[in-house]
Amino acid sequence: MTFQAKISGYADPALHAEGLYIGGAWHAGGGIPVADPSTGGRLAEVADASVADAIRAVDAADAAAAGWRATPARTRSEILRRWFELMTAHAEELAVLISLENGKALPDARGEVAYAAEFFRWYAEEATRIPGEFRRTPSGSHTILVDHEPIGIAVLITPWNFPAAMATRKIGPALAAGCTVVLKPASETPLTAYAMARLGAEAGVPAGVVNVLTTTKPGPVTNAMLSDPRVRKLSFTGSTGIGRTLLAEASKTVVSCSMELGGNAPFIVFDDADLEAALDGAMIAKMRNAGEACTAANRFYVQEGIHDAFVAGLTGRMAALRIGPGAAPQTQCGPMITRKAVEKIDRLVSDAVAAGARATTGGKPLSGDGFFYPPTVLVDVPVDAAIAREEIFGPVAPVYRFRTDDEAIRLANDTEYGLAAYVYSRDLKRALQAGKRLEAGMLGINRGLMSDPAAPFGGVKQSGLGREGGVTGILEFMEPKYYAVDY
Ligand code: NAD
Repeated sequence: MTFQAKISGYADPALHAEGLYIGGAWHAGGGIPVADPSTGGRLAEVADASVADAIRAVDAADAAAAGWRATPARTRSEILRRWFELMTAHAEELAVLISLENGKALPDARGEVAYAAEFFRWYAEEATRIPGEFRRTPSGSHTILVDHEPIGIAVLITPWNFPAAMATRKIGPALAAGCTVVLKPASETPLTAYAMARLGAEAGVPAGVVNVLTTTKPGPVTNAMLSDPRVRKLSFTGSTGIGRTLLAEASKTVVSCSMELGGNAPFIVFDDADLEAALDGAMIAKMRNAGEACTAANRFYVQEGIHDAFVAGLTGRMAALRIGPGAAPQTQCGPMITRKAVEKIDRLVSDAVAAGARATTGGKPLSGDGFFYPPTVLVDVPVDAAIAREEIFGPVAPVYRFRTDDEAIRLANDTEYGLAAYVYSRDLKRALQAGKRLEAGMLGINRGLMSDPAAPFGGVKQSGLGREGGVTGILEFMEPKYYAVDY
């Protein structure tokens, strides 16, 4: 079945695009098959950008740069606001598109569209509030004026797990700051990015301000853009491994980098936690996107007094989830993105079981079409198993028992990552004290979800550099300029 036939009745074909979007024009082409993770079949084929295409996109971003920079903040703001409204008007079509190409369940996809659109609304508001400084030096010698200027052309690279939100979280602040961009979405989920580019054009984004290209050669294409002196910013979301490679590459031309990388979030449940609230939070922190989230709870540390009740409750809830194709209305847990992802999860679970862990539900990949792994709970997992060190990126909850607060904190911090951490306790003082000792950029205190466009999103240690969202997100796309003034 063709993609057009497949989406008819679900999504708006007017949002469908398969070519590169450069300088406000669509450039047809093929070469990148887009798979449907729910069936393993082919959904569409999109264009495969070359290094020359990437430089053409930088040319287009450069040609649009001066005009966009000079566009009044109010105008930039209103365009972003219209883009938010168009995403909201097309929310259901976008959600179905995300479910089809990513596989996530429709409720998750709807949540993502709302979250993604909100970045445009938030940065429409922030565009008009860019801060500056005016102060005297301590010696009284002169006046310090600080202006914030757009940093320049930004290359934005995004992963497949939130195809809409990872793009808007970068495009929103970049455009609000006055930068023009080249977006390279993940090849697994390009259709959402192209659909959003269509909506952006309809919202009034001028030609060349946002360019989108997909490629099977992300290394050479990105390196060519980073070595072009007109590119002054790289904003990357993806794995820590690729992030390290890109930091090394960007160092050659000293390009400013914002990095949103991998996570290994601990989810700590103290004895005095509200059990039902902790279970509700655990399901959100683990199962949003079927576990394919950088903030996903990767390690559940549960105190011995509440451990068995927590495991029983979690097992019941995980076993009750309905597995199915992402876009099917009844589905609560969709497929993984690729067969390789299922194989990785299987390796981590098998390794833990071989080391003494036991699955109370799930534990083996599902056979048949599509890339399915069932919701799984593991108990008696050794704390040094590979599953405690690596991102699972799937619907598997390993539960570890602990005795003292100190032990929980020590185990939680024993990782190179530091993105998100969760703490459940009825004693807010105890939870906040734990939060202070946890090495993470974001803490969920009696909450399984922390993402919000108005809050600074990002990690410490090898989970990243810089923050997206919030009031500081726009400054990632600006350079302070200092004027020493006598008058
Ligand atoms: P990935 O690192 O494999 O790919 C991310 C992007 O980088 C894709 O667009 C990919 O095509 C591109 N890429 C790959 N090699 C490249 C290269 N040599 N040069 C330039 N670009 C290259 O990650 P993924 O599998 O798409 O996404 C999952 C990872 O992303 C997980 O580690 C997850 O934790 C992380 N993630 C982090 C956040 C966050 O905000 N911290 C959010 C979502 C996902």
